[in-house]
Amino acid sequence: MSVVPDEPHVADTSEGPGACASPNASDASDTPNEAAPSAASHAFTGNPEPVSERDLHFMTLALAAADEARAAGEVPVGAVLVCGDEVIATGFNHPIGAHDPSAHAEMVALRAAAASQRNYRLPGCELYVTLEPCLMCAGAIMHARIARVVFGARDPKTGACGSVVDAFANTQLNHHTTVTGGVLEHACGDALRSFFAERRRASREARAAAAATAQAPHTDLPS
Ligand SMILES: [Zn+2]
Repeated sequence: MSVVPDEPHVADTSEGPGACASPNASDASDTPNEAAPSAASHAFTGNPEPVSERDLHFMTLALAAADEARAAGEVPVGAVLVCGDEVIATGFNHPIGAHDPSAHAEMVALRAAAASQRNYRLPGCELYVTLEPCLMCAGAIMHARIARVVFGARDPKTGACGSVVDAFANTQLNHHTTVTGGVLEHACGDALRSFFAERRRASREARAAAAATAQAPHTDLPS
């Protein structure tokens, strides 16, 4: 089994589906999920109104959390949980390092907030995340009674806010969360695209170095 992180979920418009999120992955077969945030090929219609300064502010903080994931070699997705105007928790994606498939940025932030509030429900809170939540995170968001989700880049591979499925549009579910998408979409998508581009570059260089080593004459053998 590879330890490939669920690659994002974001569409790479420059090279198409490619490397997976694992920093060590060098085989395309290990990278089933790399998609890249698309430039809006999906019919997401959740945010017709202008983006507020408040949303920009908190999404900027979520992007800073995504940088922590990148620094750890993980797919750069970050989240902040806001109660009123206060950030009560942050989280960054790190399933590889945590050996935890549920260690998405949203889940990490939800767990931290629930622990700090000593309450498994977080009614009235807002979750800002740089990438459209997946189904797992959408479910946790509902269970936590989050009032509003704000995301940046859309995820054409696993997005559960309209890109692949729209969990929050299902009226049979008994909790309804407002969703706003596309806030700082380009910045959030660029963070993911540049991460994967860098990883592919490093992978190519590693393969080239390995090939050069294999072909080099053995001049240091004893005569
Ligand atoms: Zn998720």
